[in-house]
Amino acid sequence: MAELIGRMPVEQLPLADCLGLVLAEDVVAPISLPPFDNSAMDGYAVRAADIAGAPVELPVADDIPAGKTDLKHLAAGSAHRIMTGAPVPPGADAVIQVELTDGGTATVRVNSAVAEGANIRRAADDVRAGDTVLTAGTVLRPAQLGLLAALGFAALPVRRRPRVLVLSTGSELVEPGHRLLPGQIYESNGLMLATAVREAGGEAKLLRFVPDDVVEFHAALAPHLRSVDVIMTSGGVSAGAYEVVKDAFTGRGVEFTRVAMQPGGPQGAGRYGGVAVVTLPGNPVSAQVSFEVFVRPALLASMGHTVVERQMAQAALTSAITSPLGKTQFRRGAYDPESNQVVTPVGGPGSHLLSALALSNCLIEVPEDATELPAGSTVTVRMLM
Ligand code: AMP
Ligand code: MG
Repeated sequence: MAELIGRMPVEQLPLADCLGLVLAEDVVAPISLPPFDNSAMDGYAVRAADIAGAPVELPVADDIPAGKTDLKHLAAGSAHRIMTGAPVPPGADAVIQVELTDGGTATVRVNSAVAEGANIRRAADDVRAGDTVLTAGTVLRPAQLGLLAALGFAALPVRRRPRVLVLSTGSELVEPGHRLLPGQIYESNGLMLATAVREAGGEAKLLRFVPDDVVEFHAALAPHLRSVDVIMTSGGVSAGAYEVVKDAFTGRGVEFTRVAMQPGGPQGAGRYGGVAVVTLPGNPVSAQVSFEVFVRPALLASMGHTVVERQMAQAALTSAITSPLGKTQFRRGAYDPESNQVVTPVGGPGSHLLSALALSNCLIEVPEDATELPAGSTVTVRMLM
């Protein structure tokens, strides 16, 4: 699946759009941080030698709020009132915090001495201009984005988000908010899969009510072919009649197969019109589990992530489960990291049991050769959060 989707191209994106994306190049600091010596306190810039004999009284010759750009030289025997983050004036070698003075504006009485350099944050204390601050492959979280904004970057080289067309098929599907007729159900896969794409960092375009009709399916798909990197369908791939996705794509670059897993047996993948295609089964739990196992890692890899798998853990089952021979089973579970790493199966194996999935925080992975797992067995769980 990762080879099918490939790597997204590198683009310069505004910082605000880069959350969760991966730096494509090393970043060299264009400036130092802090860019200039500045005050760590609200107080007075002084020469340490002038207040060595404190208490002393000094004339206040200037006022330096943060952001002041034209600085006067600090004359010997005087003080400049200064705020946190404001540049330390030439001639000063220390800041005395306001709490150790009377806070005066014309003259100030200084009650304590401080050492040379006190309360000054030196230029380049944090980052030196020319240093590599972050390397290619770094995932951009708020702290990294904050640092890069502080260094003055407006845009960053990142692999862009994959654009995924999430297309749900089924003539029985109705838009939530409308009335159901007997035999109809609300469309849920589209919303679930589109939000899962976004959670993984991709962009999702949602096309929800494509009927089980090949002509209509192609008509719905055609306008989007040029603007997406991945087509991800749900439904219409199993063994019945009216399998619209299978009918529409068979012989056109998409292979359909049965995977030895439960849920999520019927799957298809390939390329159509130059676009990567993944066809997920229609049962909601099958669709979501298939996304987790096959699609999510591939989407992350396409953005340049190296950690693409969920966190895994070992846990002891609180109750017995059975599993079909020859299939990897993904059961929904509630993992409790606090009470000695145990996991409780939630609901049965049925792939229509969406509420059980909603009450779970992990998938319990039962290997192909295991058929009976008594309570207390150690299993591998795939965390979903
Ligand atoms: P299918 O593979 O199309 O036969 O679908 C299998 C089951 O999943 C059927 O019960 C469908 O009604 C249901 N299903 C398919 N697509 C969706 C969807 N988008 N939202 C909710 N249920 C769906
Ligand atoms: Mg269907």
